[in-house]
Amino acid sequence: MQRNLVWFRNDLRLSDNPALYHACQQNQAVIAIYIATPEQWQQHDDAPVKIDFWRRNLHVMQTDLAKLNITLHYFQVDDYQKIPKLIETICKQWQISNLFFNHDYPVNEQQRDDAVIKACHDQDVRCYSYHDQLLLTPKSVTTKAGEPFKVFTPFSKQARQQIGTALQLYPRPEKQQLILTKTLDEECGLDLIDWPTISTKLKQFWPAGESEAQARLIKFSQNKIADYQHNRDIPSLRATSKLSAYLASGVISARQCWQASVQYCEQNDGVRTWQNELLWRDFYKQVLIDYPQVSKHKPWKADTDAIPWRHDMTELQAWQQGQTGFPLVDAAMRQLLEVGWMHNRLRMVTAMFLTKHLLIDWRLGEQWFMQHLIDGELAANNGGWQWSASTGTDAVPYFRIFNPITQSQRFDPKGDFIRHYLPELSSLSDKDIHQPRAEQRSLYCQPIVDLKFGRERALAAFKQR
Ligand SMILES: Cc1cc2nc3c(=O)[nH]c(=O)nc-3n(C[C@H](O)[C@H](O)[C@H](O)COP(=O)(O)OP(=O)(O)OC[C@H]3O[C@@H](n4cnc5c(N)ncnc54)[C@H](O)[C@@H]3O)c2cc1C
Repeated sequence: MQRNLVWFRNDLRLSDNPALYHACQQNQAVIAIYIATPEQWQQHDDAPVKIDFWRRNLHVMQTDLAKLNITLHYFQVDDYQKIPKLIETICKQWQISNLFFNHDYPVNEQQRDDAVIKACHDQDVRCYSYHDQLLLTPKSVTTKAGEPFKVFTPFSKQARQQIGTALQLYPRPEKQQLILTKTLDEECGLDLIDWPTISTKLKQFWPAGESEAQARLIKFSQNKIADYQHNRDIPSLRATSKLSAYLASGVISARQCWQASVQYCEQNDGVRTWQNELLWRDFYKQVLIDYPQVSKHKPWKADTDAIPWRHDMTELQAWQQGQTGFPLVDAAMRQLLEVGWMHNRLRMVTAMFLTKHLLIDWRLGEQWFMQHLIDGELAANNGGWQWSASTGTDAVPYFRIFNPITQSQRFDPKGDFIRHYLPELSSLSDKDIHQPRAEQRSLYCQPIVDLKFGRERALAAFKQR
């Protein structure tokens, strides 16, 4: 009997997992592996909260796989460079015939996979890899001239047509034949991997497991999605799906999300708006694939590299710690520190405040988000930052700068969100809470920038580039 090896990476689920599904179709023995790479995580600024989420999801997945007679084995190496050699050893020791995995698109991951494919080829191990992370296969959504779309709206129209109602989802595999393998010297128990330590409170916000993700999706589709277009910008309401952590780690697939949005609710503007967010996710991944320079710290609009971005560490730290003196910005930044997640409207407000009012390099903000987000994901994070900094494709025009006070009055009118994360301001009136008066400043910090001055400085910098 041949032996199939499934290598799990950003696809920590059993249902709708193309690599796992195909590995299980041939009535052959199936073995699964996960390879931890702590140094690589550090180089990529992966947040401790996200890495811990992987650990907890792996734990759940191991139990679920065992019910299918598939054993999940763990390994640890420093970085991607060491993976081809390790897989070579595993394949040799366990007499593997076929390796299955789902594609990863960033540059380092592609190089890693190319090296693994070569190592397998040298040993006569066949590699099977599948597109998984996007709704539609990369490079399949193009203009009539076959070019990648640079603007979201035509991309989304075209993508919707291609998705139609015929998304292919893969069922959870059937039980496999049990296979016992010898323990390898290189193996490492789940608990022996160098996981970061995070607080129990933080873990409780993000329960692990595919069934948790599915339950969230169904609840959101049945109860919230219909009003999504009205409520999604109000951070004090729990009006968005909070599925990003599960999507980023592949605990749920974008196809499953799309299908639920068709299956569990009547089609209306709320549903279409939410589907658009899934398409933004696809769009930014396509941008990363078509323009790999964006994953190498380069702006999509090359001329914006000439902007004299500031590197003021005192102001950067005030922003990072939620000490800017602008309540909505500070509440949002403290949300990020407390729960490892931030509401989308506030990601735009805080990113624009950093890159426009403070004129601080967007790459520093991008890095801080990545280091703290449970859903930190290169394409979406880079896309969001380049949108906010007006350096990206289909980005906000540089002169449309969100004012953090008017954004606060508009999207947190009674200050409910601010009061939650800035309890020191809870006694202020609904009017004052957006901009505490001078005599109330003893409760809170001074604004670190004059908004009018910051806005004009940003406009001048963009005009001069
Ligand atoms: C500066 C900035 C940085 C961001 N960094 C990330 C990131 O690292 N990882 C990440 O997943 N999203 C990122 N986003 C996009 C967005 O803020 C989050 O996806 C969203 O807030 C997650 O909450 P949710 O799951 O409740 O989303 P919902 O509103 O329920 O949306 C459903 C799903 O669609 C996707 N999505 C929604 N909005 C966007 C968007 N603008 N771009 C791409 N995908 C989107 C997410 O996967 C999300 O889970 C960023 C946005 C900005 C402005």
